[in-house]
Amino acid sequence: MKAVVLHEVGPAENLITEAEWPRPSVQPGRVTVRVRAAGVCYRDVIDRLGGFPYMKRPIIPGHEIAGEVVEVGDGVEDFAVGDRVVNLHRGACGECEYCRAGHEPRCMRQPYAVGLTIDGGYAEYALLPASCLVALPARVPFEKACFLACTAGVALRGLRGHARLDRGQTVLITGASGGVGLHAIQVARALGARVVAVTSSQAKVDSLRARGAEEVVVSTDLAFHKQVKQLTGGVDVAFDCVGEPTLNASVRSLKPMGRCVVAGNVTVSRFELNPGLMILNELSLSGTSACSRRDLEQVLDWVTEGAIEPVLDEVLDLDDAVKAHRRLESRGVTGRLVLKP
Ligand SMILES: [Zn+2]
Ligand SMILES: [Zn+2]
Repeated sequence: MKAVVLHEVGPAENLITEAEWPRPSVQPGRVTVRVRAAGVCYRDVIDRLGGFPYMKRPIIPGHEIAGEVVEVGDGVEDFAVGDRVVNLHRGACGECEYCRAGHEPRCMRQPYAVGLTIDGGYAEYALLPASCLVALPARVPFEKACFLACTAGVALRGLRGHARLDRGQTVLITGASGGVGLHAIQVARALGARVVAVTSSQAKVDSLRARGAEEVVVSTDLAFHKQVKQLTGGVDVAFDCVGEPTLNASVRSLKPMGRCVVAGNVTVSRFELNPGLMILNELSLSGTSACSRRDLEQVLDWVTEGAIEPVLDEVLDLDDAVKAHRRLESRGVTGRLVLKP
């Protein structure tokens, strides 16, 4: 089969297109998926550069996969040949305290990670554990489905799970024009919340409004909390897709008992927190990193109903994996790049 293979970590050119890479044979508990779309996520760039020391090599990268089941291993009961599927990124044992509570992204055993410890989606076929697959409704195209877990799913876990965002509440979203941000606006709207988006670029204002932001704050000095407070009196929830540069102003935008959830770390640096502000206003701060089965199923329902429109930048051939990684590194992407093997 054709596959893009990373033999050694390093620059984008290390993604080698192999015309005759061995097609995996099906195994018990697993299914072979004919990959119809594979999302190219910024985390793929980080992994390619060596960000995950336990990554197997050679590896077929790509943790965002949508396709059709073509072979079913012994013991698989929930999927049959021809089923359309999309994947969760990490395995879950189903038995530990986190799994039992519905937090399978936090599974203590994490038996595998797609695109890291087992081969991923930059190939014509992927052998995936049936336990990571979710049925994909016919009305959601493969190229719009593959990246939903990593964008809208992450936003839903953060907004509904960690921040307990409720109907009628107000949410601030920073980094709103990024991949997670553009989906977080729509998820927040689907949850019945009012959205205030923060962006550094005047040129992005119209597109953020079109996605559902009621207010857009253009901020270049990162002191946007003043404008947010003026507009709203303080938000119930801040969903921060940036990290250190915006976190302080995100926390300061909260009203008493507000919740800040951080989903981005673009500069990989620390930020200062004022404990007095946290105590006086009884604020909370949490992180969010993944998507549960329940989250992804909800997102797929919303996409089917038209409540969320997945934001796709461009569909590229599998041969263009290097180009896709270079485009991501140059930060010129709005929405997701998708490879079509
Ligand atoms: Zn991803
Ligand atoms: Zn578990």
